[in-house]
Amino acid sequence: MPVRLRFAPSPTGHLHLGNVRTALYNWLYARNKGGVFVLRIEDTDAERSQRRYENQLLNDLRWLGLDWDEGPDVNGPHGPYRQSDRSSLYRHFAERLLAEGKAYRCFCPPALLEEDRRQQMAAGQQPHYLGRCRDLSPGTVSRRLQAGEASTVRLRVRKGDVGFEDEVFGPISVDCSTIGDFILLRSDGSAQYNFAVVVDDTQMRISHVVRGEGHISNTHRQILIYESLGLDPPHFAHLSTILGKDGSKLSKRHGATSLDAFRSQGYLPQALLNYLALLGWSGLEEGKEIFQPAELVQAFSFQRVNRSPATFDLDKLNWINRSHLKLLEPDRLAQLIHPYLREAGWLPSHLDQATGEWLAQLAGAILKYLDRLDQSAEQCRVIFDFVPGRDLQQQEVAQILAEEGAWEVIGNLGKELAASGELQLEDYKQAIQAVKKTSGKKGKHLFHPIRVALTGRASGLELDKLVPILEAGKGLDLPVSVLGVRERVRAVLETKETGNR
Ligand code: GLU
Repeated sequence: MPVRLRFAPSPTGHLHLGNVRTALYNWLYARNKGGVFVLRIEDTDAERSQRRYENQLLNDLRWLGLDWDEGPDVNGPHGPYRQSDRSSLYRHFAERLLAEGKAYRCFCPPALLEEDRRQQMAAGQQPHYLGRCRDLSPGTVSRRLQAGEASTVRLRVRKGDVGFEDEVFGPISVDCSTIGDFILLRSDGSAQYNFAVVVDDTQMRISHVVRGEGHISNTHRQILIYESLGLDPPHFAHLSTILGKDGSKLSKRHGATSLDAFRSQGYLPQALLNYLALLGWSGLEEGKEIFQPAELVQAFSFQRVNRSPATFDLDKLNWINRSHLKLLEPDRLAQLIHPYLREAGWLPSHLDQATGEWLAQLAGAILKYLDRLDQSAEQCRVIFDFVPGRDLQQQEVAQILAEEGAWEVIGNLGKELAASGELQLEDYKQAIQAVKKTSGKKGKHLFHPIRVALTGRASGLELDKLVPILEAGKGLDLPVSVLGVRERVRAVLETKETGNR
C-alpha cells in the first residue's frame, strides 16, 4: 500500500507550535518513505473557518518548507481538498449506511438531548445518546421525514470494545457503551467531524494518520465508522501534548505560541523544524542536536517517538536557532536582518550593491550576539543611533568618563587620528598604541574611554570589528548617515566642551 499522509488543519486561527509539529511529523514520514503528503482543509465549522486563515496556513507551511503534493491549491486525483466542497460525498456515504441499517435517523430535539446529558452528568456517567430513535420503524421514519421533522443521522454503534494499535501509544481500546450512537450528519445535512474525516481519509487513500493525542477518543469513533463502511482503517500515530514548563498544556499564557509570532521574532524555519523534531522524538544520533530538514527526513521513524508529554523549552529553541544562524552565509544573514533594520528606519528598502556588502560585514560582526533575528536592531543601534549628548549621560558611561585620565585618553586619541585620509584598521591600531604611550594608561583604563569615544556605550561589539564597519559605512547613502571613527571621537570631545561651558 503506498504511503500517503495528510495534514488536516482547521482554518479557524493561526498555526501554533502543536500543529506545526503534527504537520512536520506527517511530512517527515511521507518524505522518508517516498510517499505522498496531502494538505486537507477541514472547514466544516462554517462559523469559525475563514479563508484568510487558510491563506495564512498555506503561507506558513510554505515558509517552513513543508511542501505538499496534493492540496487545495495544487489539487490532485482525490480532490477537492477542502471539506466544504465535499458535502455531497459525505451525504452519499451516509445514505449508504442508512440503507444498510448501519445508521439511523434521529428526531430527538436538542432540548431533550440536553436534558439526558444533564442527568447523565449528574449521575456521574459519561454522557452519551440513549438510543431513543434506534428502533423506530421504517414507516415512522418516513412519515416523520415527510412531515418535515428535523433529523440527524446517527451511527448504530455495536457492543463490545473498540480498539487500535497506536504506533506511539501501543494498544488502546474502550468499551463502546461509553460512546453511544453518535451523529454522522447534523440536521442541516452537514457532516460531523469524525464522519467527514473518515470519508476523506478513505477517499484520499490515507495510509497513516498522525495527529495530536487529543484526538484519541475520536479515533475510536472513526474506527467504528470504518467498520460500518467495511473498510480497513489506516495506521494511527498520536503525538503527545506539548506542555509549558509549569506542566500545563502549552498555551498563550506561556508566551508566543503561534508560528507567526516565532517568525516575526526571527526564528529560522529550519531551526523551528529542528527543535520541534527533537521535541518528542529521540531517534537521532546521540550527541548531535543540529539537523537540517533533509537529515531529519532521513532519520525519521515512529519507533522512537515518545509517549510522555514534551515540555517546551525556549532556551533550547534559542540555542538551536543561534546554531542555525551561525551556519548561514553572511549574505543570507544580511538579507534576513535587513527588514529589522529597515523597520528601525536605518536602511532603505532597496539596497545597492555597496550597502548590501556592508550589511553582510555588519551581519557577520553581530552574529555571535544573536539568538533571534529581531535582536539585530538592538545590536546595530550603536552604528546608527550615536548621540553623544544623550549617550554620555548614561550612568555607566558617565562613570567611565569620571575616572582619572579618561578624557585625556580620548583627547589624545583625537589628536592621533587627526591626520586626514582614509582610516584603515592599522592606522587605528597605531593610534591606540600611541595613546597608550602618551597617556600611560593600559587595559580597561585605556579601552573603556576609547569604547565610549567610538560608541557612546560602556560595552558592545569588539572595537576591531566595529572600526572597519564604521569607516565603510560613512560613505553610504543611507536614511541615517553613519559617522566614521574620527567624526565620533570629535563629536564626543565637542560634547565635553559644550558640557563644560
Ligand atoms: N482538523 C483537525 C484538527 O485541526 C485534524 C484532526 C485530524 O488530523 O484528523 O485538529
